[in-house]
Amino acid sequence: MWNIDKAYIDGTFVPVQGSEVVETTNPSTEQVIGTATLASRDDARRAIAAAQRAQQTLARTSKAERIDMLMRLETAVLASTERIRDATIDEYGGPVARAQWVSEYASQCFANAAKVLDGYPLTRRVGDATVFMTPVGVAGLIAPWNSTAGTICSKLASAIAAGCASVIKPSELSPIQTMVVAEALHSAGLPPGVFNILLGRGADVGDEISTNPGVAKISFTGSTPTGKLIASVGIETMKRVSLSLTGKSASVLLDDADLSSAIPLALNAAFMNNGQACVAGTRFLVPRSRVDEVIEQVKAAVATMHVGDPRDPSTVVGPLVNRAQHDRVQHFIRRGVEQGALLVAGGEGRPAGLDKGYFVNPTVFAGVRNDMDIAREEIFGPVLSILAYDNEDDAIRIANDSIYGLQAYVFSSQAERAERVASQLEAGTVLINRIRPELLAPFGGLKQSGMGREFGVHGLEAFLEPKAVVSA
Ligand code: NAD
Repeated sequence: MWNIDKAYIDGTFVPVQGSEVVETTNPSTEQVIGTATLASRDDARRAIAAAQRAQQTLARTSKAERIDMLMRLETAVLASTERIRDATIDEYGGPVARAQWVSEYASQCFANAAKVLDGYPLTRRVGDATVFMTPVGVAGLIAPWNSTAGTICSKLASAIAAGCASVIKPSELSPIQTMVVAEALHSAGLPPGVFNILLGRGADVGDEISTNPGVAKISFTGSTPTGKLIASVGIETMKRVSLSLTGKSASVLLDDADLSSAIPLALNAAFMNNGQACVAGTRFLVPRSRVDEVIEQVKAAVATMHVGDPRDPSTVVGPLVNRAQHDRVQHFIRRGVEQGALLVAGGEGRPAGLDKGYFVNPTVFAGVRNDMDIAREEIFGPVLSILAYDNEDDAIRIANDSIYGLQAYVFSSQAERAERVASQLEAGTVLINRIRPELLAPFGGLKQSGMGREFGVHGLEAFLEPKAVVSA
């Protein structure tokens, strides 16, 4: 049983001043596995003050010193890979293979940021000017519950590479993952205040970070409505704001695709992280001429998918994070049926044999029109919609008919054709015949999926401000 009542401020774990206590539940068993006392607005102010003090020195560090810090963080997080993996499974039911990937990714972020910084010119000549890429200042890093370790570490890595001290606010739904990551980061022995971590409600700790004049930059990952709120309150103090938000990704199957490789990838894209992924490919666009064979193959594949204990390596779909998320997904499955979509796999209710835990059936609808709720809204569960299209232009039109534009997938056996389609899709990233991301490439959303980019050079630049010094 975890009892978390501390925040990480100024290099030490200190008791929080807040008094609200939340319980955290293992979603596979519905057992309470911990409690967390949430930080208050005053705690957030203390954390911001600590970051401001650290910023003075951090801003003047050399590239080599920052790379050294990043490498120490990589080593420290790598040493905690198993703890992070286990917390990810226990606290939000990530299947073991996914949880393992997330925990390795967390340490990889620091190595990637070090590599990017090493090759990045922080000073350059432009005409008569010398342009210095300077740290933007103290950064507020706000994370969602569905990707705790990865989001904390990727944002922190870019912030440190740029020379920015930070105040990190993960979700109040992931205290155990937060504590495990905080302990790992602490063991790297960085100077006090370079990063500070506290759990708290969005409405007070999150709002304090988004409005406090001591914070220059917000890097937020979460839902689109929260992102809009943060951007609107942040503008008062002219914060630089990067937003990684909601997705409703299209997977476009071209008529020349090899179904034996494309369908497993498309299902993996849809159901990754139990469907709780911003990049989940939940709209599967299929040529009308191939819909029947696709449905048959999808049905057969879903019938063999193991749903259950996320610690079991054969499990493909584990539980959803909590009862609210479980009920929300059931609502969308009901809505799909009510609006006339054809249920071809799964459906409402509990998977057979699972009478405890927030499990849902991996569900597939066919005959989905793009104006149905299941095609328009982010469900955040293992629910896939198959939409038929008539020709390539029609596929592109349907894929782009969304307020979101985070990631898209294309499956085809012709590289040039796939690239032509990819170039017309309104998405920050398009993956062709794969679902594995490129972690050095920019990541972020078009339209209401966000603003700005993370990862690689673009992620580093999101924490830098150019300053031109022009001499006579
Ligand atoms: P959320 O927007 O509810 O919360 C995200 C974070 O914002 C939490 O830490 C929360 O406490 C905080 N917050 C809430 N109100 C706030 C406020 N007024 N001011 C400051 N902070 C506030 O999102 P969630 O439910 O935790 O996460 C799921 C959402 O995140 C989904 O929409 C998903 O698509 C999105 N997401 C996007 C990406 C991406 O990279 N684009 C990655 C993961 C998740």
